[in-house]
This record gives sequence, structure tokens and C-alpha cells, in this order.
Amino acid sequence: MTMTMSCNCGKKGIYFRRYSGQVLCRHCFKKYIEKKFLETIRKKYPLKRGERIGCAISGGKDSLAMLYLLAKLREKLRLDVQAILIDEGIMGYREKGIEKAKKFCKENEVPLHIYSFKKAFGIELDEIVKASREIKPCSFCGVFRRKLLNRASNELELRRLAIGHNLDDEVQAILMNYIRGEFERLARSEVEKTELVPRVKPLSEIPEKEVMIYALLKNIDFSPEECPYAELAFRRKIRDFVNELEEAHAGIKFSIARGYRKLVPFFKPTNYALKTCSICGEASAKEVCKACELLGKYKSLLTSA
Ligand code: SF4
Ligand SMILES: [Zn+2]
Ligand SMILES: [Zn+2]
Repeated sequence: MTMTMSCNCGKKGIYFRRYSGQVLCRHCFKKYIEKKFLETIRKKYPLKRGERIGCAISGGKDSLAMLYLLAKLREKLRLDVQAILIDEGIMGYREKGIEKAKKFCKENEVPLHIYSFKKAFGIELDEIVKASREIKPCSFCGVFRRKLLNRASNELELRRLAIGHNLDDEVQAILMNYIRGEFERLARSEVEKTELVPRVKPLSEIPEKEVMIYALLKNIDFSPEECPYAELAFRRKIRDFVNELEEAHAGIKFSIARGYRKLVPFFKPTNYALKTCSICGEASAKEVCKACELLGKYKSLLTSA
């Protein structure tokens, strides 16, 4: 595929979209991403005028591209957009994301709220990882991050919380949960009602490569760093497998995501009544919330060391 091919509008093509067989110029590519973003919101998460919406950002390409697009929509829908960043305490990685997020939010006039593990739980993820080799950083991190995002949503009185998952993230998560037999998790993203604030994923129908090109074309200054604790081994295999499939059958990522959505009506919603955690006093599905349970385990590891 040579880039001498032209876009439908006659301008020079910069991207060949294999799954639709179209060549797009810079202008039409940006317009297409913006249209897809709006369509996803309209179809899956209709926002109300004047709504206060949170946007979870990390300083990476996906979350900053999402925030850029939401900030653009802000005028039209009179949205009140608030950015939230979770500082897990990962030395050499998180500072870079924070720096990019601060700069972006300042330039785009979006209030930024930083919540840290240290301040909320008295520990950093680095300290947890040092305590034991058996600890899976992402399991701790995921639970604490979710708790802090819920806390932030509550404190900031958000109606919704936008997460920058792209199509590749969605497809990888679907396949990983399916292969591991984690059906509760598989169902969770669509039907679980225990999240305090509904999640919005406006990039979930845009492939990762296209989000990256959009961020570059828009000169979004993002952090390209990857978390050093990322559980990459399995995810990378799934990612490579899906990319190979996509290479041979263009559009398969969309069809995996579509297939998953067809399954959703067959999942039973887990509508269990929310209790109050007996330790931290926040909403929880059990007597003690997952974060307090994990913190207890971490403390017992320290005392037994
Ligand atoms: S990759 Fe794992 S440890 Fe790193 S930020 Fe994400 S969930 Fe946390
Ligand atoms: Zn064009
Ligand atoms: Zn608790």
C-alpha cells in the first residue's frame, strides 16, 4: 500500500483503513474519529446537557485523546468536565504521566484532581510490591484504583465517569476473561450495577492504532511510558494473537466486540444490595470491602516478615 493513493476528497492519503478498504487524508481521518466518538456516546451513553462528567486520565495517549474530545464537546453540551488522575506510587513511571496530564489540563482549562494511594491508604504500590514477590501488582492496583475512582466520583458529585479504553483494550479484556473462565468479570463491564457512578467508554469502538494516529495528528503531548508492573506476558500473547487475526481477517476486532455485545443479554445482572464496609465505611458488596481486605493482607505480610 503506497501512500500516493488519495482520499475520497482528493487530498493525499495518510492512512489506509484495511477493514473498510478506504484511504483517508489527515482532515478526513480526524473527522472520522470525532464522528465515531460522538456516535459511540449517542448510541451507548447518551449524555445530558449540563452533566458533570469525570474523565479518568493517566497522561497516556488514550486518556488524553478522550479528554481532548470531551473538552471539545463541552461547549456544545455545556458539559462540566473534571479530570481525575490516580497516583499509585510507581517511581520512574507515574511522575511522567502526571507531568503530561497537568500540562494538558492547564492548556485545555480542565480542572484536574489527583488522588494518591499514599494519601488515601497510607502506602504506595512500590511498597506493596517490595513486601512480597507473590503479590500481583495489578490485582492490588486495580482494586485500589477502582475504590479511589468511586471515592472521587462521589466527592466531585459526578454523574458519569469516562474511561479511555480503546477497541483493542476491550477485545483483549473480553478474550482474557473468556479464556480464564472469569464470566463474572466478563459480564461486569456491561451489566454489573454495583459501580456507584456509571462508566462511559467513548473510545471503545476505535482501534488503538487509530487513537494513536489521532493523538499524533492533534499534537497531543502524551506520555508513551508503559507501567513497569503491567501483567504483559498473557495480555501480550492475546494482543499478538488478535493482531494476527486482524491481519488475516480485517475487521475481526469489531466482530469480536459485536459478538460479545450479543452475549450480554444472556448474562444475569448481579444486583446485590450494597452494604457499608465495616472498616472504611464506604459502599461495598460484602461486610469488608475488597480494598480493606487487601490492606489487611498486606499489613499481615509486614508483621510476619
Ligand atoms: S499496569 Fe497494573 S500496576 Fe500498572 S498501573 Fe495498570 S493496573 Fe496498576
Ligand atoms: Zn479527505
Ligand atoms: Zn473498606
